Amino acid sequence: MQSVTSVSIGYISLGYKLCLNGDAEMTVMSNEEYVESIYAGDVDLTRAIEGIRAKGMPEISIAPGYGRLLTLLVQASGAQRILEIGALGGYSGICLARGLQENGRLLSLELQQEYADVAYTHLQLAGLGDKVGYRIGDAMVTLPELVNEGARFDFFFIDADKGSYPEYLDYAIELSNPGAIIVGDNSFMHGRTMDPSQNSNSVKAVRRFNERMAMDPRLESTILPAYDGLAIARVRA
Ligand code: MG
Repeated sequence: MQSVTSVSIGYISLGYKLCLNGDAEMTVMSNEEYVESIYAGDVDLTRAIEGIRAKGMPEISIAPGYGRLLTLLVQASGAQRILEIGALGGYSGICLARGLQENGRLLSLELQQEYADVAYTHLQLAGLGDKVGYRIGDAMVTLPELVNEGARFDFFFIDADKGSYPEYLDYAIELSNPGAIIVGDNSFMHGRTMDPSQNSNSVKAVRRFNERMAMDPRLESTILPAYDGLAIARVRA
């Protein structure tokens, strides 16, 4: 096999593997490939991806389809105050801030100043710089500070160190306005969550997080199984 290409005909999108002998062997795209194939490129998000790569930062931004979902969820919920745990290079920050109304604000917690600087640059270039603020440091320190300050949020996006996911969920619930939305990325940890031979602290923490999202009586939720899994909950009013 030399290359894979695709062609879109209305709603039908087919992938072709080009074999070494020149014969085209038709294949079927994955669900995610098909979805991505029918969306146009996004200048701001492509710039963020390229900037993250150029800086040598981890290339673990949220999947494009879930980035679009973040924008939709913020818009549909009318969230005014968003708390993001883990800014990385600003890809998800762009998706979140895009959904905000005029006076909406995004606060992003980031361990490393350098990452927050990259994220802020990408949001600024996307025309969203006035909507975002950053707090640098360990979220397990900044989250209790926010509790002490009496801060409240309408929307949470958790996408940081997996070992602290259950604690991040506790803080999200504590900091939530009634009806707030809580989203957690990477429910599957690229298959490790479902692999019984994997029992690291971070895997066990994400299993606990998923189970809490599913069963905590204060939440109604679902877990979307495309890409690397996305857990979405609403805090009952
Ligand atoms: Mg992630």
